[in-house]
Amino acid sequence: MKYNLNDIVMLKKIHPCGNDKFEIIRLGIDIKIKCIRCGHVIMLPRVEFNKKIKKVINNENEKEEN
Ligand SMILES: [Zn+2]
Repeated sequence: MKYNLNDIVMLKKIHPCGNDKFEIIRLGIDIKIKCIRCGHVIMLPRVEFNKKIKKVINNENEKEEN
């Protein structure tokens, strides 16, 4: 699945605050996501993140890629 910095992603697991959308605030070997409802920041290894991600909701305009 493709995602970029500042994208909103939907995770399979819902955060205790009742929200399932998170913003990607850092992309590296580890990925940092922020719960857009309560602001809680979670850091995950990329492999782990890839398993938990359900859907990517692009924040910005979609770019055409070939
Ligand atoms: Zn939350």
